[in-house]
Amino acid sequence: MNHLQTAQSVLNEAFGFDSFRPGQEEIVDRLLAGRNVLAVMPTGAGKSLCYQIPAIVRDGLTIVVSPLVALMNDQAAALEANGVAVACIHSGKSRENNVMDWRNVQGGDVKILYLSPERLMTERMLTVLDAIKPGMFIVDEAHCISKWGTGFRPDYAALEHLKARYPDATIGGFTATADATTRSDIADKLFGGDGDTVVHGFDRPNIWLGVVPKTQWRNQLMEFLETRRGQSGIVYCASRRLTEEVASFLSENGIRGLPYHAGMSNEDRQQNQELFMSDEAIVMVATIAFGMGIDKSDIRFVFHLNLPGSMEAYYQEIGRAGRDGAPADAFMIYGLDDIRTRRQFIEQDSSEEEYKRKEHKRLDTLLAYCEATQCRRVLLLSYFGEEEAEACGNCDVCQNPPTLIDGTTEAQMLLSAVVRSGERFGANHIIDILTGSSTERIISLGHDKLPTFGVGNEHSKLFWRAFIRQAVAGGYLVIDIGRFGGLRLSRTGRLVLKGAQQFYYREISNPKTTSRSARSE
Ligand code: ADP
Ligand code: ZN
Repeated sequence: MNHLQTAQSVLNEAFGFDSFRPGQEEIVDRLLAGRNVLAVMPTGAGKSLCYQIPAIVRDGLTIVVSPLVALMNDQAAALEANGVAVACIHSGKSRENNVMDWRNVQGGDVKILYLSPERLMTERMLTVLDAIKPGMFIVDEAHCISKWGTGFRPDYAALEHLKARYPDATIGGFTATADATTRSDIADKLFGGDGDTVVHGFDRPNIWLGVVPKTQWRNQLMEFLETRRGQSGIVYCASRRLTEEVASFLSENGIRGLPYHAGMSNEDRQQNQELFMSDEAIVMVATIAFGMGIDKSDIRFVFHLNLPGSMEAYYQEIGRAGRDGAPADAFMIYGLDDIRTRRQFIEQDSSEEEYKRKEHKRLDTLLAYCEATQCRRVLLLSYFGEEEAEACGNCDVCQNPPTLIDGTTEAQMLLSAVVRSGERFGANHIIDILTGSSTERIISLGHDKLPTFGVGNEHSKLFWRAFIRQAVAGGYLVIDIGRFGGLRLSRTGRLVLKGAQQFYYREISNPKTTSRSARSE
């Protein structure tokens, strides 16, 4: 039998599965051949099997590094039940149990040893392992090793020394969340880039994707929920205060909405979560505190009332819908206020300039997704490294392709108004200049004397708001958080102003809520 046939029979006999899922075989094959691999697959795609099977088939000991004690216990128990010799050493177990497992490892009977990173990377442990010569190291939740990703853990940092200490061992990393920059950073830290990165299984074709500008969230939310009465869903909000407000708003309108956020007592949260899990037709109005480990298969929609934190966060949050494979909707409304808030979060989050710069770029990617002029799924998948996707037919852009209009003249009016007023005012004030509104502030600043005053008055304020949002999302204008959120021009903005570059925008109609079901009716 070649090694893949052996792997196949372990899959059938030890695990009781008929066949590999997409992506699994490729990873198993590489690890069996002794090739270093970084595997990026979403939660639930079946990552564990990808290293457990090679660990069973290969000679010698495999060490699996995992940050979560509960996860280690579950996996070890499941493997033991399948007749695999496994050991597990961590601080969540009694000393005697750890010692017993350790003896088994030294006796050479154990195929897989689960360890926390801080246990593994002690000199004492490494010295003993030098003699045992583990054949393979697997790092689960590998994104924790990178400062560029979300969720860096200091105790993962030392894992970058593994490759030098065990040059003959195969090293595998597994993660569900890592963009291109983070991936190459992880591959570099784990195996000096000498290995393959495999990305697979991010498509969730049953989830309809849609994003529209925020006009009046109450109307937009009600319109969306109206056609979904009786269904379970999640409404994600950016703040605790807003979750409370939205939950009571829904209840006042005859929809069972329950709040969920980290500021509530444990009992209240627990209770709301249990209701959501057991009852139908509950809308959970939540901050990102809600979702980890939620295993409810019939969540029919996820509604984002605010911009999510990143593409990764967005993907994870919408991924909670439609686990049963039946049609589900992911709908987002977003506006300029969201962009501003997110930028502020980033500024306050850290003092490291490099980190901030990356976070702002991450946000730019998300904004480009919001203002997409091509299939959203194609954008989403290519963000996660799956680049061969074709237009899906199950997103708002595919179903209703936006008309692009040459707005170079309008853009020049806008950019010029921003420059002439000193690049320090926010959208409202700029709109007042463009539409020629003689407000007190405009007069007192003398902005009614600007040559751009009133040049844009053939368009409504609503038009200009949407236009500015697109200009910001497209990176022509920048919200300058350091200067009270005033707008300033970017390099490409200057090119447009000079007439060296065109500016196209998505046709601005009266923005309305659309959806998969509204559309297919
Ligand atoms: P991940 O670590 O990627 O989140 P898991 O390894 O926990 O995912 O696997 C998710 C589920 O899929 C588990 O219940 C696992 O038993 C199941 N699974 C994995 N591979 C297969 C397969 N080839 N066939 C059927 N079920 C599988
Ligand atoms: Zn599409």
